Amino acid sequence: TWKPVFPNSADTDFSNAALRDKGLRALEMVRQQLGQTYQPLINGQYINTAQMIDSLNPSNPSEIVGKVGLISVEQAETAIQAAKAAFPAWRHTPVRERAGVLRKAAELFEQRRAELCAWMAFEVGKPLHQGDAEVSEAIDFCRYYADEMERLDQGYQYDTAGETNRYNYQPRGISVIISPWNFPLAIPVGMTVASLVTGNCTLLKPAEVSSVIAVKITEVLVEAGIPAGVFQFVPGKGSTVGSYMVQHPDVHMITFTGSQEVGCRIYAEAALLKPGQKHLKRVIAEMGGKNAIIVDESADLDQAVAGVVYSAFGYTGQKCSACSRVVVLEPVYEAFVKRLTEAVRSLNVGNAVLPSTQVGPVIDANAQQKIKEYIEIGKQEAELAIQVAAPETGYFVGPTVFINVLPTAKIAQEEIFGPVLAVIKAQNFEEALDIANGTNFALTGGLYSRTPSHIQKAKAEFEVGNLYINRGITGAIVSRQPFGGFKLSGVGSKAGGPDYLLQFLEPRHITENI
Ligand code: NAP
Repeated sequence: TWKPVFPNSADTDFSNAALRDKGLRALEMVRQQLGQTYQPLINGQYINTAQMIDSLNPSNPSEIVGKVGLISVEQAETAIQAAKAAFPAWRHTPVRERAGVLRKAAELFEQRRAELCAWMAFEVGKPLHQGDAEVSEAIDFCRYYADEMERLDQGYQYDTAGETNRYNYQPRGISVIISPWNFPLAIPVGMTVASLVTGNCTLLKPAEVSSVIAVKITEVLVEAGIPAGVFQFVPGKGSTVGSYMVQHPDVHMITFTGSQEVGCRIYAEAALLKPGQKHLKRVIAEMGGKNAIIVDESADLDQAVAGVVYSAFGYTGQKCSACSRVVVLEPVYEAFVKRLTEAVRSLNVGNAVLPSTQVGPVIDANAQQKIKEYIEIGKQEAELAIQVAAPETGYFVGPTVFINVLPTAKIAQEEIFGPVLAVIKAQNFEEALDIANGTNFALTGGLYSRTPSHIQKAKAEFEVGNLYINRGITGAIVSRQPFGGFKLSGVGSKAGGPDYLLQFLEPRHITENI
């Protein structure tokens, strides 16, 4: 049996009026700070750059959240050299001290919880209560990986007559983190602190559209005492600076979370041995999903509708774990569709900073355009059940449900990464499972059922990294639900799980005759 004892941090209870007010005050405070300029951090110094980007509020794009300097390829080179110089001292820093930096960072994230939620509402359009869960996750990653590294640091030993055997771990070296915008705090924090606590010198390249939140992560790590050169904040264009770091012969590992297209490219680029390179690179690539929930004839439909709606439209469908397909068995299909449509109709779409908002904007104009194109494709391929009206200003797309979708339709196969749900009918449970498994992805999946044989079959045959039974399929919790997929959803072990740190380490074994 496996019993995680890790104490997860608690989310804010927004039903408490005082805490709700605290959230609203933080929004006002952050509003006063919008439009400031931020710089990359290289070798302990905030540096000037030739290029800047404006990070915009997707709920109201005329509002500049912050201006962030983008580094050049030459500055990326300087950062990599600084990381190399800092490595010998960091690798020999006792694990207790490295873990101490993470625990201090966790404390600082907790102190800044309301403010960080506010930044997420402004920069990536995430409603406060959803950003709050992300702060909890970031804190959990810090504390959990600190504990985990202390566990691994004990290594393994086996002594026999005249011989000692020691199995230990050492860091890999220079580590580049490339993060997405959709969990702009928890994901980069998780990847970065895992890399740091294992003794690697780490460069963080965030997604451009969430650079200001990455600045806040940098502030926290610096205040927590991370040495110069050990952690560096290197915002830059993915296609140029990101790719340069991926291909650099001195880089040992790349930890990426993002789209399949970019992940596959990084995997290929990192595989090529460059002149002077004396190692093969390790790549962790967590990528997309096309996640399905199966609803069978024995399901509690109230539960199923609520779970599907939150899984599909929470954070406007922009979660890798989001439900984008629901496969419903024929006997309950009509009833489910009717109730689902009514539930979706009542969703409140609007500016992410408003407490009444359930569904905020999508991240930017490109995403909005791409999602709208998929909706047009959906109108050709299937039947539109509902599209909720959305505000004109801002990058909004109303929650949209298509019904009678064929399992092979584009909208049932490709990751749309927005508030678009495809409802597919299946004649029996075996067919439903085949449909659910019939994509290139294997990230999350769900089943609503009260039939033990179906539950048993799903446990054995539903091809996903994280399977959820009789609940929604998003919101994995560190240590309790280690998270990650396989097939084209990614390579690498589960974040927030007991194997994760091993990927950042090189095992060594020493036998001594005495
Ligand atoms: P993305 O477009 O792939 O970008 C991710 C990161 O890669 C960004 O920092 C981007 O930088 C950088 N990048 C782009 N081109 C690059 C290149 N040629 N070389 C190196 N780096 C490059 O993904 P996204 O739109 O930010 O995130 C959404 C995707 O992430 C979805 O597919 C979602 O499913 C996936 N996701 C997966 C998980 C998981 O755990 N499996 C979790 C969250 C999200 P720029 O911003 O500068 O382009």
